[in-house]
Amino acid sequence: MPYTAKTIEQLKRTSPAQAEFYQAAEEVLMSLRPLLDKNPKYQKHNIIERIVEPERQIFFRVVWMDDSGQIQVNKGFRIEFNSALGPYKGGLRFHPSVNAGIIKFLGFEQIFKNALTGRAIGGGKGGSDFDPKGKSDAEIMRFCQAFMSELYRHIGPNTDVPAGDIGVGGREIGYLFGQYKRLTGRYEGVLTGKGLNWGGSLARTEATGYGAVYFAQNMLEARGETLEGKTCAVSGAGNVAIYTIEKLYQYGAKPVTVSDSRGMVYDKHGINLETLKELKEVQKTSLEAYIKEHPSAQYIPLSDYPKGRNAVWTFACDAAFPSATQNEVNVADAKELLKNGCICISEGANMPSSPEAVDLFLAAKIAYGPGKAANAGGVATSQLEMSQNASMESWDFETVDTKLKDIMHGIFMNSSETAKEFGDPSNLVLGANIAGFRKVADAMIDQGAV
Ligand code: NDP
Repeated sequence: MPYTAKTIEQLKRTSPAQAEFYQAAEEVLMSLRPLLDKNPKYQKHNIIERIVEPERQIFFRVVWMDDSGQIQVNKGFRIEFNSALGPYKGGLRFHPSVNAGIIKFLGFEQIFKNALTGRAIGGGKGGSDFDPKGKSDAEIMRFCQAFMSELYRHIGPNTDVPAGDIGVGGREIGYLFGQYKRLTGRYEGVLTGKGLNWGGSLARTEATGYGAVYFAQNMLEARGETLEGKTCAVSGAGNVAIYTIEKLYQYGAKPVTVSDSRGMVYDKHGINLETLKELKEVQKTSLEAYIKEHPSAQYIPLSDYPKGRNAVWTFACDAAFPSATQNEVNVADAKELLKNGCICISEGANMPSSPEAVDLFLAAKIAYGPGKAANAGGVATSQLEMSQNASMESWDFETVDTKLKDIMHGIFMNSSETAKEFGDPSNLVLGANIAGFRKVADAMIDQGAV
């Protein structure tokens, strides 16, 4: 049995019931075959078996008190996956769907994504099955403090530097940082995504969404096209989606959709960014309220989505930006996107397309930017925040944004040059996986059997 297939089989046996992790691992390992065939050193050093096994997994109990005085219990996770290139780096996700397999898939993706940024950061991820929806501000604070009361032992500015992800934004990072400082007595760059007046970086909030649009523009320019005048479908209505939409407008494109966990909005005039920010960043409420301000827009509740489908992808678009969550574009969605003339997909979310959907995009040879390349702008800018903290400097917005743009261009060039090197020039899945893997694997070989 080939080395990669044997490793995947072994994973399924030794880490049961982690479907999302197998999906992520299979995608990466399968695309490494041409590299592994040419370079026996990776098998000699048993890199594949080593890279799919996290260096450390921390599972812990989080006990906190709700506003009615009831004691609540949640699960906490931090997976320190790979430190060949630098301190573990990756976000924290608070969402009821979180389990060990989801954190492991996210941590695994993070290894290669972080390598692609060219910055000195290893891969990690963490989170909890805590559901922030409907919780008071005081409950969110008590939960974050309880979560950090265990996590603080395992993190540090040179060991492991968490950030935000789904359900963890500036407010949560603030409460987590405050508790870290209280417990350790140290004021240091242990988290990124911090507030601008206490160590955060300008453009970090915007970075993932802006980066996904820069990546799309790079892909299109390489094909003699641009985003100007393009109709775009965006899913999600959180951090990534909002700043994807903001940058799309700056590039002269028209984003016409957004979605949240309860439904979606289609606005043929273009999504109103001010209303979106007010609903999601200020009021933190459902998108349903959008149509009160914009009656000509259409709201579709989740219950009215076509069976087994995500309604966002039923609207015709030239470019699509999945920016909500994993596996939100299935094979039927992919077929419809292609049928309606979509020529570009830039993934703001992590692993939003199912393997079958990815196969269709690659076969159609459209401009397809996989998450680990297209959404790497967030973590890259987190590393810029770490650099600013370490040197006690703070750079202006333009400086950070220019660096972000350069990094996204670098990731595109590296992925497409690598895809060319392996004989499949339009396949950025192949290019990104091999380029990211090669960097990490070579560092692992240099550092010996650890
Ligand atoms: P947010 O929590 O800010 O927003 C997530 C959005 O997606 C919300 O609108 C949420 O709906 C919606 N959503 C979440 N889960 C589901 C679901 N199961 N079904 C339907 N809608 C859902 O998260 P981010 O914007 O930060 O993250 C979005 C994606 O981008 C994730 O895949 C994340 O891993 C990825 N990412 C984020 C980075 C970052 O810097 N933030 C960096 C790289 C990748 P509702 O409003 O109802 O909660």
